[in-house]
Amino acid sequence: MTKTKKPIITNIYEAWNETPRMKENGGEAMINGGCCICGKKVGKGSALVHMDTSGNIIPPLKEGQNEEDVDSQGCWDIGSECLKRVPKHLVIFRQQRVC
Ligand SMILES: [Zn+2]
Repeated sequence: MTKTKKPIITNIYEAWNETPRMKENGGEAMINGGCCICGKKVGKGSALVHMDTSGNIIPPLKEGQNEEDVDSQGCWDIGSECLKRVPKHLVIFRQQRVC
């Protein structure tokens, strides 16, 4: 089976356009511990992405930086499939405990 390669994700709200269910209830799915891109339940030890108030995936907070400085909306779970579509430097692994 051949799969079309999906584009890189840099904005979560834009990614929701691919999934009608998420476009309507994305925020709810995230709060309930689903993947912030597709809403599917994520496994234990999943990775996180840091999101700003515009839905952009942003790097983790640096030392001395406040959430307000970058309009942070906090860190959210992301499933392994969607993770492959996020630039590597923006992925936060649990053991880093940055947010
Ligand atoms: Zn996902």
